Amino acid sequence: MTVGRPEMMRAWVVSQPGPIETSPLRYVEKPVPAPAAGELLVQVLACAVCRTDLHVSEGDLPVHREHVTPGHMVVGPVAALGERVTGYAVGDRVGVAWLRYVDGTCAYCRRGDENLCPHSLYTGWDADGGYAEYVTVPAAFAYRLPADVPDVELAPLLCAGIIGYRALLRASLPAGGRLGLYGFGDSAHLVAQVALAQGATVHALTRGEASQRLALALGAASARGAYDSPPEPLDSAILFAPVGDLVPVALRALDRGGVLAVAGIHLTDTPPLNYEHELFYEKELRSVTSNTRDNGREFLALALRHRVRATTHVYPMSRAQQALQDLKAGVFDGAAVLVNDRDTTR
Ligand SMILES: [Zn+2]
Ligand SMILES: [Zn+2]
Repeated sequence: MTVGRPEMMRAWVVSQPGPIETSPLRYVEKPVPAPAAGELLVQVLACAVCRTDLHVSEGDLPVHREHVTPGHMVVGPVAALGERVTGYAVGDRVGVAWLRYVDGTCAYCRRGDENLCPHSLYTGWDADGGYAEYVTVPAAFAYRLPADVPDVELAPLLCAGIIGYRALLRASLPAGGRLGLYGFGDSAHLVAQVALAQGATVHALTRGEASQRLALALGAASARGAYDSPPEPLDSAILFAPVGDLVPVALRALDRGGVLAVAGIHLTDTPPLNYEHELFYEKELRSVTSNTRDNGREFLALALRHRVRATTHVYPMSRAQQALQDLKAGVFDGAAVLVNDRDTTR
């Protein structure tokens, strides 16, 4: 227990999933959660906004917990330790991400694919997340973070970055290869930096002049509309936009033997595929499901080594619903990050 930890906190809850324009979230007063055995209580200083939070709020994903608090890209200090936690101390700087539990015993876990565990649980969907002043996380699923990078810059790495990195692995980009990124938001702009640092040629295919400008500023070789052809065939592509209509578009842009990875947890229906033009010549279409903790640790190390920097738009925590509305409307480029004012966090 920490001296001075408050009993109550402000938190957003999804009261009735529905279109974000109808304000499905409520900002309420609720008890600060107590960390269970093996868990850390983390004070939320920054929480980045993910498209998945939008899917949870709008009901694109089924309700797993009534009145859940969204948010799974949290940076902050450990505020208290549950029983039997070792290796962490109050004040340690940690990150809370999407994956928060796997059974460790199923066939998938045992072969190293814990992202496919049928008993997996997720922060901000199965358990309350970071659109609040405090959040709990099993210590085994927390990430240690360096002290010298600002909260707001680190937060988007924790899902946008990690899932994007797994998508890059799933896209099997060859060394020095040509990578197409369909949609250029929070995840893509982080993945682009890793791919460029590793010697890839990156082509951004995205709506919105701001996103195209950001891509070019980061070093992309070209930036065009999502339905345009890239200037050269692609060895690999990642679809970040949750738009099934783009699947055949991206498959056609692949070179022979190319791979398309679909990064999102939710995708609108894909139209029928044309075998000759979209799959033949051993083109591959792959999905991406969550991530392993190894993916997370590997990405964070790479991101820090290559100085991957998130382009961020800061909102006070009290404006989380507006941030989600702006995300849906495509108002900003890069990543939105919610911050609790240190002075008002009681
Ligand atoms: Zn498992
Ligand atoms: Zn996410």
